[in-house]
Amino acid sequence: LPDPEHLFDVVVIGAGQAGLAGAHGLVRAGLRAGSDFLVLDGNEGPGGAWRHRWDSLTLGRAHGIADLPGSELGEPDPEVPASRVVADYYGRYEHDFSLAVVRPARVNAVVSDTAEERSGPLRIEFDLRGEPTSVRTRYVLNATGTWTRPFVPYIRGIDSFEGRQLHTVGYRRAEDFAGRRTLVVGGGLSAVQFLLELGPVTETLWTTRRPPNFSPVAFNTQWGRDVEAAVRERTEAGQNPASVVRTTGIPQLPEYMRAVEDRILVSRGMIDEIHPSGVHFPGAAEAQAQAAALPGGAGGLGPSAARELQVPESWQPFPQPRFEEVDVIFWNTGFRAALDHLAPLELREPGGGITVRNEVEVVVDSRVLLVGCGSSASTIGATRAGRRASRVALKRLGLR
Ligand code: FAD
Repeated sequence: LPDPEHLFDVVVIGAGQAGLAGAHGLVRAGLRAGSDFLVLDGNEGPGGAWRHRWDSLTLGRAHGIADLPGSELGEPDPEVPASRVVADYYGRYEHDFSLAVVRPARVNAVVSDTAEERSGPLRIEFDLRGEPTSVRTRYVLNATGTWTRPFVPYIRGIDSFEGRQLHTVGYRRAEDFAGRRTLVVGGGLSAVQFLLELGPVTETLWTTRRPPNFSPVAFNTQWGRDVEAAVRERTEAGQNPASVVRTTGIPQLPEYMRAVEDRILVSRGMIDEIHPSGVHFPGAAEAQAQAAALPGGAGGLGPSAARELQVPESWQPFPQPRFEEVDVIFWNTGFRAALDHLAPLELREPGGGITVRNEVEVVVDSRVLLVGCGSSASTIGATRAGRRASRVALKRLGLR
């Protein structure tokens, strides 16, 4: 058990891609885990959010992760679930770089440990294997990701629905949906992949606010940078980040294009009301108007903002308003940054966002570095931001 009065130089919260990349930077500079810095992680074992992903999500085609600094993942076996591949990879990494991750350690609050305004040590309050405890630190490198904060939009009547509702985080396997007519909500890659998986076992309906963003651009490094730049613009202005995953769009893989032709990947626009036994669609004119009124218009944010609708057949709202019976509503509507434990530090601007400079530096409180949020919410971005945050912390500690 760490000594509550020991003052660490840095506490890293979260041991996903972002936190591990950050911890690696500290180790490389000669800091020792357990005495100079501490890594706290809420999970039972290594793997970050990947640990919780369903078995059919594998690495190779639509998914892939960046290498952590100083260690290559190699060619992952596309037959083995990503949850296992990544947990093994991160576990080896923690061992090889002696990161001594403390878990399961869930941080509940980060507070100032002195009366001084936004300077002096911070206290990190957490439950370690269920027992409340705390430690002190000069800097916090926060890398808590989004997985623990699934987002479901409010739609009129949502509480009256008598069928099953679940979010991406609750998905295990397609067979659980057999014979249950399912509404899949959301325009991201997860929704697309679930529609394909559920197709053989049950009837599905797809609802998205915008026309599906099938992107013709090559999913390469430049495209990744463009997407990140679009998100970064918002965080630097103190706005809530748009999701990188949403901004990325959907690759035009041959099997996705076939599924559009087979009418499995056809969005009917956004539902406007939920009833006990089903959902209501507003009709084409209204769906079109709703999509156009969204920030960035029907094309969404990012490099695709002004794009033409690439695969028009994938957007076919019902011509007239219409009620559809469904047994399951499956929300693939994204996540929010898991930052509730930082609330006592009052980092948020009136606009709701946290203003961040150089991707990781919280402007109003130099003791806090944010990694893996906004523009760094991909494994490439998380790795880069983790490195950068460790460099900033070392500099502020006078060690660089
Ligand atoms: P996480 O991996 O979520 O790690 C955060 C860690 O912090 C977790 O271990 C968690 O337990 C811990 N934590 C959270 N709160 C607390 C707390 N209060 N106290 C203590 N610990 C806490 N990106 C890609 O680059 N390629 C992909 O193919 C890809 N596929 C994706 C598929 C899905 C379905 C989703 C949702 C996202 C995908 N992403 C992908 C995005 C990807 O998950 C992130 O880029 C990256 O893995 C996130 O890393 P992270 O370290 O920021 O967060």
